[in-house]
Amino acid sequence: MFLKRKMNDSTNNYSDKILKIKEKIGEADAVIIGAGAGLSTSAGFVYTGERFEKYFSDFRKKYGFSDMYSGGFYPYKTLEKHWGYWCRYIYINRYMDAPKPVYQNLHDLVKEKDYFVLTTNVDHCFQKAGFDKNRIFYTQGDYGLFQCSEPCHKETYDNEEAIKKMVLSQGFQIKDGELQKPENGEIKLTVPTGLIPYCPHCGKPMSMNLRSDQTFVEDDGWHQAAERYEKFIQDHKKQKIVFLELGVGYNTPGIIKYPFWQMTNTFEHAFYVCLNQSEAYAPEEIRRKSVCMNEDIGEVLKEL
Ligand SMILES: [Zn+2]
Repeated sequence: MFLKRKMNDSTNNYSDKILKIKEKIGEADAVIIGAGAGLSTSAGFVYTGERFEKYFSDFRKKYGFSDMYSGGFYPYKTLEKHWGYWCRYIYINRYMDAPKPVYQNLHDLVKEKDYFVLTTNVDHCFQKAGFDKNRIFYTQGDYGLFQCSEPCHKETYDNEEAIKKMVLSQGFQIKDGELQKPENGEIKLTVPTGLIPYCPHCGKPMSMNLRSDQTFVEDDGWHQAAERYEKFIQDHKKQKIVFLELGVGYNTPGIIKYPFWQMTNTFEHAFYVCLNQSEAYAPEEIRRKSVCMNEDIGEVLKEL
């Protein structure tokens, strides 16, 4: 009894949890990363405060919202205004690097392992940090892709050049990939009519390839990634497999969190790691096969 109690206490300790995670990843045949918004927050992709103010103070003054998400939902009256907002939003969250090397540290942790990434994040950070694109399944879309708003067909379109032209048209400069305001320069809140993207097939306006409603396009790449993910699970489910859940909240728990719990429970040699600043939790059924840490993910990854 005493021993058991002592062991339970010791696994609540920060450094013991770190050791346990190291041990489990070290001996794993496969690591499945499940990543949510909290991982990018830890990497410095913050949608409020200083970062919002730096790029959107003019929008705050004109429209009154005070975070980037709200700005994305605002019902702009024209497409010139709509893309005036979205081009900046996409550029800084998709084409600029995250302020902290959290994704790079995560890549260092798993790059020698057989790994796969399942993520609801749409900011492309995994690929930018060197993760193999054939080992990533972006379930909710990508800030880097346009689609037909209708949609009349199931293709997506790389938007890098179009987005760059839009931000440059507002008066921004791009230096070493960073978006910069010119000194004493005027920044426009709109884009010229000629830069508004339209569907090459039906001529309707393009929209972002993001799962916000039923118009979301699951293109060939999406379906191939879904199949690769399913095959990865089947190939490894009898082996030592670590489900490494990072920053997944309760907005869409059915995509990563609940399946991870279920598979950890079902697969004999599975282990569940949950890192989340404030919501790390594992249900009773899998608690002996889990480590949960309510810490900053970037800080924990440094230790691993
Ligand atoms: Zn179309």
